[in-house]
Amino acid sequence: MGIKKSAIRGIIGLMFLLSAYNVYPQETKLLQLEEELQEVNIDAPEEENKENVTQINLVSVGDIMMHEEEIISGYHAKTKTYDYHYMFEPIKNYIQNADLAIGNLELTLAGKEKKYTGYPCFNAPDELALALKDTGFDILTTANNHSLDRRFYGIKRTIQVLDKLQILHTGTFITSKESNEMLISEVNGTKIAFLAYTYGTNGISFDKGKEFSVNLINKNKMMNDIAKAKQLEAELICVSIHFGDEYVREPNNKQKEIVNFIASQGADIILGSHPHVLQPIEIRKIKKNDEEKEVVILYSQGNFISAQRDRYQDASALFNIELEKNCDTNHISIKSVTYIPTWVDLSRINGQYHFRVLPAKKYIHVFEAKKDALISQKDYNILKRSLKDVRQILMSNDTRIHEQLTLLDE
Ligand SMILES: [Zn+2]
Repeated sequence: MGIKKSAIRGIIGLMFLLSAYNVYPQETKLLQLEEELQEVNIDAPEEENKENVTQINLVSVGDIMMHEEEIISGYHAKTKTYDYHYMFEPIKNYIQNADLAIGNLELTLAGKEKKYTGYPCFNAPDELALALKDTGFDILTTANNHSLDRRFYGIKRTIQVLDKLQILHTGTFITSKESNEMLISEVNGTKIAFLAYTYGTNGISFDKGKEFSVNLINKNKMMNDIAKAKQLEAELICVSIHFGDEYVREPNNKQKEIVNFIASQGADIILGSHPHVLQPIEIRKIKKNDEEKEVVILYSQGNFISAQRDRYQDASALFNIELEKNCDTNHISIKSVTYIPTWVDLSRINGQYHFRVLPAKKYIHVFEAKKDALISQKDYNILKRSLKDVRQILMSNDTRIHEQLTLLDE
């Protein structure tokens, strides 16, 4: 939950023009999957002289989707109510432990009267937002191709529900005035600006005069917003961006171009979503004049939760971005980007669908210890394959990017 103490060293919102030698896509080397081997690598070095340093740990996840099967999975016939807390129970600790947790809410909360539906036009029960709040999410981005699934009414009501639950949000707006305001959150004494944009809204047109209600990818707008974040003295700028080709595990040229642009304008963290599968991660050095800084780039964070069951679509990761701030110089640096591979388990309890986001590695052990009755042998095989897949996609030559092997409750 909430914004706790911690912080960053590093980089500061200096403006750097021009990025980017195309570091992407990296050569993917053959993965060594023996867990033992991986375990050896990881212990982070103790840093000396901690006095003047604060840490910031941001947790980010990808698309939060609610397909028909998920909607009905939370229905309790006896009480005629919905409850989705169960979905996130196995992963909750890691989200609550973050200084700030952010995800992409890819649906509307337009109320029962507008009928709850999954694909292709999403409207989920408000109880999902409550579960996300209690799971520890602090910020949900709402700019995506499903923002207008219940037109402007859906945008407005979604925002009202989030406001009521005190979940911060950005990317869609009720008024033109609000669309010009900036979400800046103070995390462990560091001001972080959050921005969100989408490539489009599935061809659903804006209500007349409500063109401001969804942030679309537009270079001028993004450039101005980032400049404004700096004027407002944001020390870090985090841009969520909804783009890319669905089901493709490498960024396309358009994604690369947009990422180059955002990075060149001075973003520090770029959180991609939309392809419904993972795409690689990088920490990129950017130079402008004599200044050098680094940018965290997650091209696509996959489906955090969905009912999509195909290979790569049911697997994702929870990303931990660790930053360090030197309190003497206010310099913020990127310490590491670690990830916990996740897998969405679909079981049935008394015939009713049951979806859970599982930390993959942990639940392989849980199954092997015969401690989870819901995971079948078939699930276990898929779970093992999905863990390999995630490791392969996210593998990096940068030693600061690696799987988080020691989990809180192990
Ligand atoms: Zn999308």
